[in-house]
Amino acid sequence: YYDKDTVIFHNGEFIKAEEAKADLFSQSLHYGNGVFDAVRAYDTALGPHIFKARQHYTRFVEAAKTMHLNLDYSVDELVGITYQLLEENGFKDAYVRPLVYASANMDLTPTKTNNIFIAAWRWDKFLGKDLLDITISTYTRPSPYSFNVEAKISGHYINSIVSIAEAKERGFDDAILLDVEGYVAEGTGANFFFEKGGKLYTSQKGHIYPGITREVVFGIAKSLGVEVVEGQYKPEDLNDIDGAFFTGTAAQITGISSIDGRAMKKDWDDTIGCEVFEKYRQFVTQSEYDNYSII
Ligand code: PMP
Repeated sequence: YYDKDTVIFHNGEFIKAEEAKADLFSQSLHYGNGVFDAVRAYDTALGPHIFKARQHYTRFVEAAKTMHLNLDYSVDELVGITYQLLEENGFKDAYVRPLVYASANMDLTPTKTNNIFIAAWRWDKFLGKDLLDITISTYTRPSPYSFNVEAKISGHYINSIVSIAEAKERGFDDAILLDVEGYVAEGTGANFFFEKGGKLYTSQKGHIYPGITREVVFGIAKSLGVEVVEGQYKPEDLNDIDGAFFTGTAAQITGISSIDGRAMKKDWDDTIGCEVFEKYRQFVTQSEYDNYSII
């Protein structure tokens, strides 16, 4: 993620990643109280462009608030800092990771002072055709009554870590998780869509992380004349489907070839997911895409 020349933004300064120091008594390290986001910059004809920058940083700021992690930066400042960070590092296609983490505190009260970290690393992967064989995890997504599952809280991700470990142990690439009520929720780091009879289906909000890519896919589907139905689906609803894919800033649109050994009825190239992927690729790499009304 970094080498000797990498510059990060840490508590108001651009410094070498190698020289940055964090406190071992941070409440975030011990109890997982941090908030982050996953952001991506794409090389476009007009230079590097951070895809949906304001949306990403708005949800980052909101998530920090829900965890009582005060953040002294506005959305516009964070966007500006990120552009500067890309420039400092000479990055065009990059993954950007903002994190707000707590200062030293070994008890469970919210901390008064916090830290901001923004790093970026080169990333020009377009996944799409690296199809995944996935399983339905024995772990469920955390209950929305336990904490705010719509905030990207560091500690929340232990659920994804154990689910991926389990999936890999059983010979799969990744997993989808059900919610606490037994309905299909989402992937370990992505939202989930499936195709049946010319329509797309995805889990309704409530037990999932409401991804920005998920919303972009709604817009793309509309432009293709494809209906997206948000609802509650049982694992059995996935037994006989034409196609499926994950969506996320990192995952982009990643096709799924099988779920628990059952292959999709269509080849990836013939699915709506594949069409959505092609459109998504165009949007993120066109400099004027933020003006597209449909996304
Ligand atoms: N669900 C989870 C659990 C995630 O970690 C992510 C990745 N941020 C997503 C969905 C997709 O969100 P987005 O499209 O905003 O990246």
